[in-house]
Amino acid sequence: MVPKNAFQKHIELEKRVLKLKAYSERSTLNKIEINDKKIGFITSGVSYLYAREMYPQASFLKLGMTFPFPSELAREFAKKVKKIFVIEELEPYMEEQLLLAGIKFKAKDPSFRVGELRPEDIPDIVKGKVRKYVPQTSRKAVMCPGCPHRSVFSVLKKLRLTVTGDIGCYTLGALAPMQALHTCLCMGSGVTFFEGFKKVLGRDVVGVIGDSTFVHSGVTGLINLAYNQTKGLIIILDNSTTAMTGNQPHPAVGITIKGEPTKKLILEDLCRVCGADNVDVIGAYDIKALEELVKSRVNADALSVIIVRTPCRLIERTKLKPPVLEETKCKKCYLCLGLDCPALRKDENGLIKINGKFCVGCNLCVNSCPAQALRKNE
Ligand code: SF4
Ligand code: SF4
Repeated sequence: MVPKNAFQKHIELEKRVLKLKAYSERSTLNKIEINDKKIGFITSGVSYLYAREMYPQASFLKLGMTFPFPSELAREFAKKVKKIFVIEELEPYMEEQLLLAGIKFKAKDPSFRVGELRPEDIPDIVKGKVRKYVPQTSRKAVMCPGCPHRSVFSVLKKLRLTVTGDIGCYTLGALAPMQALHTCLCMGSGVTFFEGFKKVLGRDVVGVIGDSTFVHSGVTGLINLAYNQTKGLIIILDNSTTAMTGNQPHPAVGITIKGEPTKKLILEDLCRVCGADNVDVIGAYDIKALEELVKSRVNADALSVIIVRTPCRLIERTKLKPPVLEETKCKKCYLCLGLDCPALRKDENGLIKINGKFCVGCNLCVNSCPAQALRKNE
């Protein structure tokens, strides 16, 4: 927007905020529930449910619209209730709005600003206590069983390559025990970081990026690689979706956000017109062929793109039989566990166990076993 218009639009914006504030004050999204007048909570979202669960007899100002803050409604609530507590996760937004409006309330201890709240935190907030525990995620972040990204990272790790990464499910390749992705900054940086790393390290570097991210902002990096005559290898992890954020389609899928067929961007054509000398398409589970292809391209005197195309497991849900373990052959080296597949674990007796409920029969673990103790179940 040019400055003159921006000035005018700002005036309109301020008027709109005032109108929204008036709407917020009378909206049915924000409601007062008067019960016990000795204790009241100003809260919203899941925090309301937690407070309600722990103090069912209390009064509530439940906000479904927190911005612009309905300070007059809060004032009306404050007149009816003796003691007010604010229950909100993270930063003290509602607390600050109440301070601005001059409404008295009890704030949570700052230790509750970190992490999600739980119902059992509410009495501690009311009693003014400091948080007793450090909030942690309940389960380890891990790629799904049969995830096509796992096989790519198993190859990159085996070849001991430096991998510049990007943002998507495949960023999980950075975590132990895989640890095969070494950088992640922003969307597109899997390609642009590759250029810098290649210049500094000279060889054994590869850039990885998902199909959706490549369309979003990786393509400009590839154009620059060609323009700057950079040689090396970019791998597009094409799982035919935007998996990390909920499987939205993108222009290389050929389906609109409404699920209707549309023009499909052909990634291999796009890479060629951007200036890639070699463009290969390969399936993620063809692990030996993938390894040979990566070896042939990574330090070649050409700009290469390998598109590893296998649909996300959340799209392609067909399953093959789980592999079979020949116990007498197992050397208990646990190289298979390095894949970090949730379907594989070590049993009490030290043997490998495959959870048939989780396993999708991708047979990646079969390929990883140097003793041929795991075999395909055909
Ligand atoms: S990689 Fe093979 S030999 Fe090693 S623990 Fe796993 S199944 Fe056993
Ligand atoms: S075949 Fe092996 S790697 Fe693939 S899902 Fe089953 S246990 Fe995991």
